[in-house]
Amino acid sequence: MKAIRVHQFGGPEVLKLEELPDPQPGPEQVVIRVHAAGVNPVDAYIRTGTYVFKPNLPYTPGYDAGGMVTAIGRDVKKFKSGDRVYITESTTGTYAERALADQSKVHPLPDHVSFEQGAAMGVPYGTAYRGLFQRAHAKPGETVLIHGASGGVGTAAVQLARAAGMIVIGTAGSEDGIKLVTEQGAQYGLNHSKDGYLDELMKLTNGQGVNVIIELLANKNLGRDLTVLARNGRAIVIGSRGTVEIDPRNTMGRETDIRGVTLGSTSEPEYREMHAALTAGLENGTLRPLIGKKIPLADAARAQEEIMQPSGAHGKMVLVL
Ligand code: NAP
Repeated sequence: MKAIRVHQFGGPEVLKLEELPDPQPGPEQVVIRVHAAGVNPVDAYIRTGTYVFKPNLPYTPGYDAGGMVTAIGRDVKKFKSGDRVYITESTTGTYAERALADQSKVHPLPDHVSFEQGAAMGVPYGTAYRGLFQRAHAKPGETVLIHGASGGVGTAAVQLARAAGMIVIGTAGSEDGIKLVTEQGAQYGLNHSKDGYLDELMKLTNGQGVNVIIELLANKNLGRDLTVLARNGRAIVIGSRGTVEIDPRNTMGRETDIRGVTLGSTSEPEYREMHAALTAGLENGTLRPLIGKKIPLADAARAQEEIMQPSGAHGKMVLVL
């Protein structure tokens, strides 16, 4: 099979297309033919060798994929060859024609959901779910600001929050992005690259502020986020690429919280809850992953370069095979 390999940490140029033997399943494992693999910012952080998780070299990147089961281990009962599935973790990496996954990380993909959409479920939808429900404990009727709503995690958070009955305000950095965010279900769209957009948010909430902020770029926004949270509001830090100055007094009067999220900290029971909810959302059509750029596997280096660009996100980027 063809697979992307990393033999040394570094820039995108270390991603090389190579020929490898097909993986074989252990007793509780499943092999899938990957039709689409999710490209996530974390794949690029890991490749640099400076991230908290450092794989042994050489390795194949990628956690997320949508595809078809081609082989199963002897103890696998839930899946058979030919099943359409998405996976959220792979012991061999998903930037490859075939990927090996433990059966617990394999989930059914309804017929009306594409393989590309399946490749958006693990990191983006898992993180959005964890942020909204497992960390913020957001409730129907609450107002949620998705601060960075046009990308992989943001579009997922908009759909999840809207389906759960929240009032959703989403931001993007362009007019096209705002259109996309409202099409995904946000009642209001604001432009985070324009001065004064948080004043507009305060007007939209009659001066009350929002109950929850799902923050995708905390190093830019956390200081001001604390000024637009309602009483007992929660700022949920999902993305941050540097440091930021905050005024801690802004958390005191309205007794607000700052809570971090790492998808990797999800416990097994939380993971089962998460994917029970996400597969139900795919089945009933409330979750419809929005696919942005589709890039061939051989151009994985370009994909990882583009996923780190600062603006112009448009849903989920995937590699197609
Ligand atoms: P993505 O698809 O590239 O989207 C990036 C988003 O950030 C876009 O919506 C972009 O909007 C927005 N953005 C740009 N400038 C912004 C600003 N000034 N204020 C608010 N938002 C801004 O990336 P992603 O996959 O959604 O991931 C987003 C971040 O979350 C990344 O930093 C990633 O590493 C992190 N993340 C963390 C976890 C975790 O476990 N904690 C898991 C997954 C992802 P425009 O392009 O429209 O400007």
